[in-house]
Amino acid sequence: MYTILTYHTIGDHKDILPAGINTPIEVFRSHMDYLSEHHYRVAPLEEIVNGVIHSQKVNSKTLAITFDDGYEDHFLYAYPVLEKYSFPATIFLTVNRINGYWESEKALGGKIKGLSRDQILKMQNAGLIQFGSHGYSHNNLLAANEEEQSIEIRGSKLYLEDLLSEDVPFISYPFGACDDGVKNIVKEAGYQAGFTIWNRKPDIYSIPRIPLHTNDGSRRFRFKISPFYYPAKSFFRFV
Ligand SMILES: [Zn+2]
Repeated sequence: MYTILTYHTIGDHKDILPAGINTPIEVFRSHMDYLSEHHYRVAPLEEIVNGVIHSQKVNSKTLAITFDDGYEDHFLYAYPVLEKYSFPATIFLTVNRINGYWESEKALGGKIKGLSRDQILKMQNAGLIQFGSHGYSHNNLLAANEEEQSIEIRGSKLYLEDLLSEDVPFISYPFGACDDGVKNIVKEAGYQAGFTIWNRKPDIYSIPRIPLHTNDGSRRFRFKISPFYYPAKSFFRFV
């Protein structure tokens, strides 16, 4: 099983956002400190994808880091920590939130800033951060018709490739939602891989990731990155 971590906002949103999508800065920093202190190897996402494609075993202390949505705080707070350790990461961007805002009624002022084009390009140029698609407008792909799915999947790829002047081989599904129809469009659009959150029948277009939350202190983090997390999760789903 492959260990791919997924974060959303990194900030002081503890009391104003649902716990599921925010990781306080000090908690994120403690996770990265832990990985460094315990000699984990943080690999670029394509290395993990190649492992999946070729059914190669990946060392249990090798993992990848991803962020969904593309918040300004990824640049302001997460990036400096990643830079400190030279940890590569992938940020999945929702196109229409670039230079824009995420509405969140629980956030201060009702909004959270998205990454700007400049911030994205700055991180890309430094070479540590890779970008993927997280759809065009963050619509749930299972609630969209085929034409809308195509805009979300193909349109976002074209837009991001133009912005970044490079291939965008990976997509993560908003809400982790995909089915065979979605995966077919993703394949035909030329993506090499697609990412969900936990799912029972993983394949190259629905690679599971481990979501990190507000309350993932060091003990919980240790468990989530251990080889015991997936089997335990799978066991508890049947209880
Ligand atoms: Zn999302």
